[in-house]
Amino acid sequence: AAKSHGRGNFQFFEAAMNAATHERLMMENRLWQALELKQFELYLQPQVELASRRVIGAELLLRWHHPELGMVGPDRFIPIAEESGLILPLGEWVLQQAVAMLQRWQGQLRLAVNLSARQCHGGALLPLLDRLMAQSGVDPALLELEITESAAMQDPERSRTLLRELRARGFTVAIDDFGTGYSSLSYLKLFEIDRIKIDRAFVKDIETDPNDAVIVTATISLAHALGLGVVAEGVETEAQLAFLRSKHCNEAQGYLFARPMPVGEFENLLQPGNLDQAHRA
Ligand code: C2E
Ligand code: MG
Ligand code: MG
Ligand code: MG
Repeated sequence: AAKSHGRGNFQFFEAAMNAATHERLMMENRLWQALELKQFELYLQPQVELASRRVIGAELLLRWHHPELGMVGPDRFIPIAEESGLILPLGEWVLQQAVAMLQRWQGQLRLAVNLSARQCHGGALLPLLDRLMAQSGVDPALLELEITESAAMQDPERSRTLLRELRARGFTVAIDDFGTGYSSLSYLKLFEIDRIKIDRAFVKDIETDPNDAVIVTATISLAHALGLGVVAEGVETEAQLAFLRSKHCNEAQGYLFARPMPVGEFENLLQPGNLDQAHRA
């Protein structure tokens, strides 16, 4: 009886696995098609310098419009794109678009682009960036490359070399989702970076949770003592903004200023004189 019971469990497990695998394969196929069918769209979220209250840059965020699934967020498809290898052509497309934007903006703003672990740890990134920069004549300092703490820590030695190479070429390098990984303090010593982005998980309850307030305050001082800039993510309220400003956080982004918006909409705000009105800081 034990044996047949075990078999029954296995069949149940197998059926569930098949359904999950099938769903996954469907998503993977749809994603590969999405690139050909041009279903990906880029959104921009402004980044505000707190001292000057001006928009000084933006972060590029991917969206996927599927005719039946609707708008799919990157948290749902980036992991699949990453595992299936699609992230390489997709990430190349994102970087091409990013450099074209910087060319249009003529040095007015910085642009932050998210890199995935697979993009960072394959060998194609530096040659791609070299080619794009040589063709465009864009100032590399205006292209900020964001790598998450957990992606960097997957292979610390390779990340260290890559980040050094990126900085040697003049790019700006930021650590994304700071504080959510395991090794924040050790890698600050290991990696050459320009900026850290405090994850919105810490910003969210900054006014109500004394621990979060202490962590954010200490992170900002630590970063400044190490000569790094700090961007706070996910700022939604005036109170959060006031707190961050009182701690001399350099920059912030979040729904308080603007939600991510289509590139065209963002570029309309860029018209001369509009930058100061693009936010309510
Ligand atoms: P991230 O790089 O940490 O981006 C910040 C996320 O927070 C974005 O989610 C943004 O829309 C959201 N956000 C911004 N302000 C607020 C706020 O005030 N409140 C709340 N609740 N959320 C806010 P999104 O666009 O869904 O992107 C999720 C993640 O997907 C990104 O996290 C990034 O890791 C990844 N991602 C997005 N675009 C790309 C890409 O082109 N390449 C790669 N490799 N990853 C990407
Ligand atoms: Mg990011
Ligand atoms: Mg982040
Ligand atoms: Mg994130």
